[in-house]
Amino acid sequence: MESIKALNGVGPQRAKILEKKGIKTVEDLLYYFPRDYEDRTKFCEIRDIKDGENACISATVYSPAREAQIRKNFTIYSMTVFDESGQLKVLWYNNRFVKGAFKTGDKVLFYGKVNVRGRHKEIENPVYEKEEKQHFIGKIVPIYPLSKNLTQKMVATLMEEAIKRAGELEEYLPSGIRKKYGICEINFAMKNIHFPENFSNYQSARKRFVFEELLLLRLALMKRRVNNQNALRTPFADTECVGEFIKTLPYQLTKAQTRAISEICADFAKNTAMNRLLEGDVGSGKTVVAAAGMYVAFKNGFQSAIMAPTEILAFQHFECFSQFFDGTDIKIAFLTKSTKNKQKMYEDIKNGVYDIIIGTNALISDKVIYKNLGFAVTDEQHRFGVSQRAELTEKGENPNSLIMTATPIPRTLSLILYGDLDISVLDELPPGRKPVLTYAVGEDMRKRVYAFLEKNVKSGMQAYVVCPLIEESETQDLKNAKELFEKLSKYFRGIKFGLMHGKMKAEEKDSVMRDFLDKKIDVLVSTTVIEVGVNVPNSNIMIIENAERFGLATLHQLRGRVGRAGEQAYCIMIAEKSGELVKKRMETMCRSNDGFYISEQDLKLRGPGDFFGTRQHGLPEMKIANLVSDTDILKLADSAAEDIIKKSEQISPYEEKILFEKVGNVIPESVVLN
Ligand code: ADP
Ligand code: MG
Repeated sequence: MESIKALNGVGPQRAKILEKKGIKTVEDLLYYFPRDYEDRTKFCEIRDIKDGENACISATVYSPAREAQIRKNFTIYSMTVFDESGQLKVLWYNNRFVKGAFKTGDKVLFYGKVNVRGRHKEIENPVYEKEEKQHFIGKIVPIYPLSKNLTQKMVATLMEEAIKRAGELEEYLPSGIRKKYGICEINFAMKNIHFPENFSNYQSARKRFVFEELLLLRLALMKRRVNNQNALRTPFADTECVGEFIKTLPYQLTKAQTRAISEICADFAKNTAMNRLLEGDVGSGKTVVAAAGMYVAFKNGFQSAIMAPTEILAFQHFECFSQFFDGTDIKIAFLTKSTKNKQKMYEDIKNGVYDIIIGTNALISDKVIYKNLGFAVTDEQHRFGVSQRAELTEKGENPNSLIMTATPIPRTLSLILYGDLDISVLDELPPGRKPVLTYAVGEDMRKRVYAFLEKNVKSGMQAYVVCPLIEESETQDLKNAKELFEKLSKYFRGIKFGLMHGKMKAEEKDSVMRDFLDKKIDVLVSTTVIEVGVNVPNSNIMIIENAERFGLATLHQLRGRVGRAGEQAYCIMIAEKSGELVKKRMETMCRSNDGFYISEQDLKLRGPGDFFGTRQHGLPEMKIANLVSDTDILKLADSAAEDIIKKSEQISPYEEKILFEKVGNVIPESVVLN
């Protein structure tokens, strides 16, 4: 498509500014959508204006603008205008352009916020247009996201030109689909998304572009999934054998675990590689599901690997798997950075001495060569970089891949965030778990909280105290953790405190964690680094400082660290009780122990934000769709994508061709997702 420089008023300098916003072509500009609109349709007589409102006024200039310098760098320009109903003072601050812009008798349109003090009425810094040049007043006007050196008027003017210049746009959504889902035509939509004639036109236009954006993304993800499924591998001939493993377990699997295991086994039996996400709340029992898969892989002559984000977590897996496979021929390796005699280990892995390899990202080191990796598991996937996860599967010939996450995501959202994966959900906890009793308290309760802590610790329990991560300043963050640690160590005699924070080396963290596990530490003061997966069964109290600063998902993860041994566990959030939002968030935490419910509430309360950000998943940034509030349109787009892939709706070959040309551009091939 045509370069942005083809537009009047775009020279090399402005082109550079636009390019920084990702706008290189006229089409890019067309898809630069307003973030909001200003309703400048209703004109008002001066008599009727109300204090604090935005108003459009058509008036006559009484006398030209007067300049009054109040102090250096502060000049006020003022003039009086009138209509049949009354008069109005117009004020601008430091706007030298208005000097000499008006003469007595000029008819001018104003739009701005009005102040009324008794009979005195004024409008401050309004936009204005001479009546004969009326353009952006009297309409619904777009408000664009701006950056330095761009103004609303500039972008709006360029946009008008771009729409003209682009001419008739070709429709690329198939007409059958548009009809079925009530989606308006592209030229109508393009005009009305930028310069809506009325708000109902705007609604149709917005629906179209949200639908379009989500549909193209869904199709792109589905296409990738199909491509993944083209990766051929040897099917596992025997998956029935999983029953042998299940029989040896000391407990009964939950229905959800059984379902996930059979979904995995069904994938194993195919001749294409599994790409599956196992989503389950903290404590839902994901580990045993992975172990069942590993048993099947072993029985079919393949190696398995599981990669965990920390050494201590990997070690817990090692202990856990050793127990699972006690009494079988399965040989388990434990490989991390600190493994002694790595050379021997590498050789044994290569020669197939080991059947299951457990470790940290040491598993993806160049030096590790697997004999025949058939099943690759990544635990706590959100702690790994995108590429690391891919690297593990690249260690085999299209091995089956399972990624496990304790970050529950509402289903509609996982359609997008994990759209190229199959999903198994553990939506049920093993029986007999007591929900963690959760309280939100203010600063005034601190003494009582400490007394409660002391009582429990003296009776042999362990606890965590979490202080928040301060994003702007890691040093400050560290300081806070240290201060709290020292304060608490002084306050409580006879209680052993430990300290853990993000600046510590992995080995240091692991060693603190080990001391905590071995009960050499009673209370662990920490930043959120403890969020992930480590199981310290004896800990039953979690105190969270400044809880209002955490996202609900993080709070829930943190809370998941306690109450793992059947004892009643407590989570006490010390929060500044300010604001409705904080209150609602704290209430949600106290009311529910269900990660899915909490993440849904979290989304509703604060939007997708960073936590569910698409970019961290390698997906393109949404131009218009809002993954939280556009759930309804997302469902339509998903159903339309199914129609298209399954060819259940009439689509001509030409329609298909131009649609998939668009789809092809959505996610570059080189991007690795999730
Ligand atoms: P997560 O999903 O958080 O990784 P884990 O796999 O660590 O959870 O399991 C948490 C605890 O639950 C472990 O101690 C495990 O032995 C236990 N567990 C798992 N499944 C069951 C079950 N079906 N019945 C009883 N306990 C179970
Ligand atoms: Mg786990």
